[in-house]
Amino acid sequence: MENDTIAAISTPVGEGGIAVIRVSGPEAIPIVDSVYRGKQSLKEANSHTVHYGHIVHPETGERIDEVLVTVMRAPRTFTREDVVEVSCHGGMIPVKNTLEALLSAGARLAEPGEFTKRAFLNGRIDLSQAEAVIDLIRAKTDRAARVAMHQAEGRLSKMIRRLRQKIIESLAHLAVNVDYPEYDAEEMTANMLLKECREVEAEIDRLLQTARQGKILREGIATVIVGRPNVGKSSLLNALTHENKAIVTDIPGTTRDVIEEYVNVRGVPLRLIDTAGIRETEDVVERIGVERSHRAMEQADLVILVLNHNEPLTEDDRRLIELIREQTAIVMVNKTDLSRRIDLDEVKRLIGDKPLITTSLKEERGIDDLEQAIADLFFTGKMEVGDTAIVSNARHIHLLVRAKRSVREVIEGIESGMPLDMVEIDLKNAWQALGEIIGDAVAEDLIDQIFSQFCLGK
Ligand code: GDP
Ligand code: ZN
Repeated sequence: MENDTIAAISTPVGEGGIAVIRVSGPEAIPIVDSVYRGKQSLKEANSHTVHYGHIVHPETGERIDEVLVTVMRAPRTFTREDVVEVSCHGGMIPVKNTLEALLSAGARLAEPGEFTKRAFLNGRIDLSQAEAVIDLIRAKTDRAARVAMHQAEGRLSKMIRRLRQKIIESLAHLAVNVDYPEYDAEEMTANMLLKECREVEAEIDRLLQTARQGKILREGIATVIVGRPNVGKSSLLNALTHENKAIVTDIPGTTRDVIEEYVNVRGVPLRLIDTAGIRETEDVVERIGVERSHRAMEQADLVILVLNHNEPLTEDDRRLIELIREQTAIVMVNKTDLSRRIDLDEVKRLIGDKPLITTSLKEERGIDDLEQAIADLFFTGKMEVGDTAIVSNARHIHLLVRAKRSVREVIEGIESGMPLDMVEIDLKNAWQALGEIIGDAVAEDLIDQIFSQFCLGK
């Protein structure tokens, strides 16, 4: 059971002047109180009140830090348990000492995500909201954080619940028709079921359409910079990372085998792949050859091909242009400060409708155009994060695809004249898959709900 009391530093380590230690569980208040000295014992404190005092060493009684303590009693808390938050002021050492004092007073160090897990287990939030909290913590740009925030507020959950409600209604109609054919207060015709399923399918499609953008926000646009030696790939990398300051991706517990860096371009997170190659050898194409860079390109959402303004196109350039044909790509002609020896008309002809940008990284010109081209490719105006829920989580996408497949089965079954009781199982599967998104899909639940609908509706 999850009934011990946990504690952890809940603000980013080493940042800012204030750190907050969060304590949650049945003994949260007495544990903090045992190392707290203030005007009043915390045990008598009202819920949602703040208290000034000191944390003292459990054995020596020596003052460790000056603190503000917030007491919040269950159930109106994030975890629905008693929660105490200790705001420390004295920098990292006193914070660590305060945490140690709390641990020796009986709290256990929380595992990553354990507060959120408790909130879920105690019914405070559903699964998709819990996942959103994790996304929120990991969000790499403001925009990604906003999407996660909306999801944490339950926007996706609300849409999923609405869809499931629709399916339940269809199932209820179906049950009336199948089990009580003589009860024809409302005959569930196949056409009506078809209509409802098509609506559900359309809504799932809409959610899935947001998934590409969601994935981008969550994982960043996998970006590969290619080009012959000396065209300016490293310079571009530097320009992008310096102008936009690389985002730290040091999420504890994640190990990466590829070296990646994130940069934030107008709210679009670019995940620059294989930048180590560029940095270390100063020459990806020479090192790994055109064939291997082809492979790197295959996993990319975006390829930036750099050409040299100061040299005629070479065979390698042409092969690289050929390789990006099927790809979302931007062609960048660099070194415009030097005289033009490249045939721009030929480049335009070869690259077709791919955006062409000219830059001088040396003189810091054209970088804005490049950033605009990237933003245009991935966030056209209509994709702006608005009121709709955005699906960004791989598990959710997977479940939505599963639900859609089941709904499809229903539609095709009815269309091919299958008896209605045969499609019931697919409809239930769709309901189940959607339920797994928000973390509640129990068979008994389904039965209860059908029953209550049946009574209510009739
Ligand atoms: P890479 O081999 O493709 O990574 O190319 P680098 O970024 O290492 O650049 C090769 C050389 O070109 C370096 O000496 C850069 O300073 C220089 N360079 C990069 N961009 C420009 C530019 O826009 N104009 C000029 N004149 N030189 C540049
Ligand atoms: Zn280089």
